[in-house]
Amino acid sequence: KYMTGAEIRESYLKFFESKDHVRLPSASLIPNDPQLMFTVAGMVPFKPIFWGKVEPTYKRVATCQKCVRTNDIENVGRTPRHQTFFEMLGNFSFGDYFKREAIKWAWEYVTEYLKLPENLLWVSIYLDDDEAFSIWHEEVGISERKIVRLGKDDNWWGPAGPTGPCGPDSEIFIDRGVNDNCPDPDNCSPACNCGRFLEFWNLVFTEYNQDEEGNLVYLEKKNIDTGFGLDRAASIMQNVNTNFDTDMFIPIIDRIQDILSVKYGAQKERDVSIKVIADHARSIAFMISDGVLPSNEGRGYVLRRVLRRAVRHGSLLGYDRPFLYRIVETVASHMGDIYPELRERLSFTQEITLKEEERFLSTLENGEKRLRTMLVDKKELTGEELFTLHDTYGFPLELVKEMVEGTGVKLDREGYEAAMERQRERGRGAIGNREYLGDVQVYTELFEKTGNSVFTGYRTMRDRSAVI
Ligand code: ATP
Ligand code: MG
Ligand code: MG
Ligand code: MG
Repeated sequence: KYMTGAEIRESYLKFFESKDHVRLPSASLIPNDPQLMFTVAGMVPFKPIFWGKVEPTYKRVATCQKCVRTNDIENVGRTPRHQTFFEMLGNFSFGDYFKREAIKWAWEYVTEYLKLPENLLWVSIYLDDDEAFSIWHEEVGISERKIVRLGKDDNWWGPAGPTGPCGPDSEIFIDRGVNDNCPDPDNCSPACNCGRFLEFWNLVFTEYNQDEEGNLVYLEKKNIDTGFGLDRAASIMQNVNTNFDTDMFIPIIDRIQDILSVKYGAQKERDVSIKVIADHARSIAFMISDGVLPSNEGRGYVLRRVLRRAVRHGSLLGYDRPFLYRIVETVASHMGDIYPELRERLSFTQEITLKEEERFLSTLENGEKRLRTMLVDKKELTGEELFTLHDTYGFPLELVKEMVEGTGVKLDREGYEAAMERQRERGRGAIGNREYLGDVQVYTELFEKTGNSVFTGYRTMRDRSAVI
């Protein structure tokens, strides 16, 4: 019998409580931080404390933090370990304990509580972090061969945002066995990116502040920030190949199989689409519950992109009616015990999701028509036209590509990318500005009006299906 995700979450938090940590609830996905779009790690809510701007109430804290990372969106479903939404377990020290305790407790938890076989564990440290090396080697007893020194790209964390607390880190990996992608199986280590070594826990030794010019200044107090991915922990404890094969995802995947009439595990590209839908449905449910609404800017734009991507994958699976609003219900019933906001706001989340799905499906239809007329007497689509299709009609470039394939029509991709970049600039500008706050305002008002009303979308859906 394996440990469930819920059991791992609880055992981790209990363990750190036994080391005098105070357990705090997850903060919102929307950080109280103008530098950041989403909460990307467990440390985000504590940034001002690390920074020395706010005095901590507790010196030792442990959390399970909901996180969204969009930098991993292309990896979702393609690597075993990436999602856009995931939970990060973490223990934190604000000017209290430092490297030695952080390392020893991580090791104790992993080997004595999770009982992971020591011979399969490897660690990485920052290039010149001899202190971390000697703790791992001399005090914990890990052989030199299994302690890898890596550079800034791998073993330096932060800052989260353009400035802020950061520092060298040390990561723990588990050996999942040689695979066919490895260029050099005899010398494979966590430095290799073949996927053999799975990173699951990052211990960050936060002792610097990075300023606007990129200079590192020592913080007054040294801190500890660790991040242990719960979904990855579950994949290890349940001895399955990917995060999507754990009990954290199975009910969601089952629901997708039911609704879309597809079989998980039958075909590689279809599995990618199923995993993307499962992940994105979780992101959508959590984002909307935390107050994000689809829009053309900032967070709302990210939500819109994620939702549309999921719809696209639905259509790749041959399904072209709304379905996500039904998957988010499973997310809420599966995760609602830990995150009650999912249940409290479910009817609202479903309503928003269904509206956005319907809107996208009809813009796809219009986009297709629009594209056909654009192509009547032309052999090329300009960057601006491609951008308009994407931005106004919600018709993505990949669809345009599919449709013109074999027709000899040329696409100005560079012009399109340039227009996209201008759009992204606008998106960045919108974080924290009035327009974004405007969204929240509308949301709050809407929620107050409809929050506890009964969801009526099903009836609308039935009417719609009757027409289709
Ligand atoms: P990777 O190198 O695998 O992309 P990372 O180094 O970017 O991970 P960290 O920033 O160190 O990740 O985050 C701490 C921990 O959070 C990771 O060790 C992992 O367990 C978990 N984690 C990070 N990103 C994701 C993700 N996209 N999906 C699921 N878990 C994640
Ligand atoms: Mg990453
Ligand atoms: Mg990494
Ligand atoms: Mg890492």
